Amino acid sequence: MNELDPAVMSVLRTVADDPVAYVAQWKAESGRLAIASFPMNFPAEIVHAAGALPVIVQDDPTPITEGRSLLAEFYCGYTRSVADQAALGRLDVFDAFVVADHCVQLLGAVDVIRWARPDKPLHFAQFTSAMDDPWTKSRVTGRIEECAREVEAALGVSVTPEALAASIRTFNENRRRLRELYDRRRSGRARITASDMQTLVKSSMVMDVREHTALLDRLLAQLDPSAEPPGDLVRLHLSGHFCHGPRPELLDLIEESGALVVDDDLYTGFRYISTDVPESGDPLTALSDWYLERNRAAPCPTRVSAEIDWDTYLIDSIERSRSDGVVVLMAKFCEPHMLYYPELRKALDAHDIPLLLLETEHEGVPAETVRTRMETFVERIRRRPAAVSL
Ligand code: SF4
Repeated sequence: MNELDPAVMSVLRTVADDPVAYVAQWKAESGRLAIASFPMNFPAEIVHAAGALPVIVQDDPTPITEGRSLLAEFYCGYTRSVADQAALGRLDVFDAFVVADHCVQLLGAVDVIRWARPDKPLHFAQFTSAMDDPWTKSRVTGRIEECAREVEAALGVSVTPEALAASIRTFNENRRRLRELYDRRRSGRARITASDMQTLVKSSMVMDVREHTALLDRLLAQLDPSAEPPGDLVRLHLSGHFCHGPRPELLDLIEESGALVVDDDLYTGFRYISTDVPESGDPLTALSDWYLERNRAAPCPTRVSAEIDWDTYLIDSIERSRSDGVVVLMAKFCEPHMLYYPELRKALDAHDIPLLLLETEHEGVPAETVRTRMETFVERIRRRPAAVSL
């Protein structure tokens, strides 16, 4: 087993821990603009093709102050944090905001930005959430085209098909490298902790994509392809947690309990990098293909499809990664996740797959409670008769 290059990880962690500082520095050095987007559907390639820095706004772990009076307590932590950051001026480094709708709570947070910073361009795009209808693809292509026009208007540039095609290739290269790291972790050819994996993906949501890819190349070049996986740890799949990453300290607690995270479908994880955009044909149509395809690659309960479901995907993933169990991480008050969870639980129970639900809160991690629950879960898996192991 090998570790990731500490020097590279330190650079990526600095970006992941303080995205706004990175954006401010990038703007000062490049003389270019930055556009903020929100999870989970906006195609960053459009902003990149327009010459600006695309950045996904991250959860800020500091306590929520101003945001308390702007959104109700029953909004998820991410949306309350976004409202707080907007009200406190922490998002002022961005020159415009773009959002592709997926959740009513996110719309509330975006409304706060509109109210707090009325002079900033803000484009809201509604991507059709019914994925199976014959008109879905053309409608989404139309919405993506509108996004491109709005970004052009905000920046005073035009996005050519050639520039967009080049940006698509650039982002695909980055996603491929991240998926290579996922493959190596799954197969045991690399030791990548859950919190390091989060750093890798989170920094990719913020950093200049070429700069990020170059750092991933350095990491990949130093990994030993013949490293052996440890055989004594319980292999786990982490599932859920939309829109923002769970706290790194929670991920560390999970792995300190005798478990090894080998795969995930977290948004700040595999869900974000699951799917490449087709590199041939009209690039705007390719982005709508990507939107539809990624719901097959990692189904999302905020999208509606009769053809595919998250539980089948999860069971297949668990088999592929030879995971011994699943830890579902659910952000408190995340309605789409709460509504889908019973379905997921029923399917995992039917397949005799051990499952632990951990609810997360913006206000912090109850370390001792999590530790006890995780250790009990790991012990429960260890004591399972060999005949029923996955
Ligand atoms: S999907 Fe969940 S985490 Fe994301 S904005 Fe909606 S409630 Fe919050």
